[in-house]
Amino acid sequence: REWKKINVENRSQDELYEMERTFNEMIDFLRDNFEKQEIFVSDASHELKTPISIVKSYAQLLERRGKENPELLKESIEAIDSEADRMKKLVEQMLALAKNKQTGALKQVDLVSLIEETTATFQGAYSREINLEKGMDMLVVNGNKDQLEQIIYILIDNALKYSKDKVKVSISEENSNAVFQVTDYGNGIPEEERSRIFERFYRIDKARSRDTGGTGLGLAIAKTIAKEHHGDLSVTSEIGEGSTFILRLPIGEA
Ligand code: ADP
Repeated sequence: REWKKINVENRSQDELYEMERTFNEMIDFLRDNFEKQEIFVSDASHELKTPISIVKSYAQLLERRGKENPELLKESIEAIDSEADRMKKLVEQMLALAKNKQTGALKQVDLVSLIEETTATFQGAYSREINLEKGMDMLVVNGNKDQLEQIIYILIDNALKYSKDKVKVSISEENSNAVFQVTDYGNGIPEEERSRIFERFYRIDKARSRDTGGTGLGLAIAKTIAKEHHGDLSVTSEIGEGSTFILRLPIGEA
């Protein structure tokens, strides 16, 4: 968006009306963005408050009873370490959300090899079955490689986190779009939650998601990146059967 400074001297009535319209649009835009920022800052502070309180109470406990109680010492240090990890992840993800606004220079990225590499990384780290179905050996989109890798990572990570069964990953082509899908065979996502899960900090089961290290920011990041790439991220789900997350991106020039 580019706004120019204006000069109202010697303007016709029509031009003045046009200026009024632009000015009012600008006010709406600024108000919306300001409100979004306020909500983000308030949600972010709220999310950081819990790990900070936990660290603080363990520190106080250690000060009072840590010396004579090696078990408490161990437990406290582990809790402080894991809450520090959580705060680190939250801050990193919040920075990723802020950065996703500008995609930077677009490059040609082969989605197939990116998916193969990310799938292999997960397979190496977890002993879980991840089946990859690819409709081609190469599929190029214009984009930012790190950000595209981040979406792939977030979707596979969630599929593994929220289901115990195998995960299916596929890449295909449809109407000049690359279609990347991640299917899990978990509990599924209730219909009324399906749009909300893309909101920042939203988690269906806060307690369970916290145990798995969830922040509620992953899908918001993925959705923002998809939009920045002129693509779309959606979900279909069947309760008790599982969910499929679908990323569509316009195919670039190879
Ligand atoms: P989180 O860090 O909590 O995983 P996300 O933004 O990635 O945050 O996801 C938001 C919420 O959507 C999760 O907390 C979880 O409740 C739900 N969710 C995401 N992916 C899945 C999935 N594959 N199956 C079931 N629920 C999911």
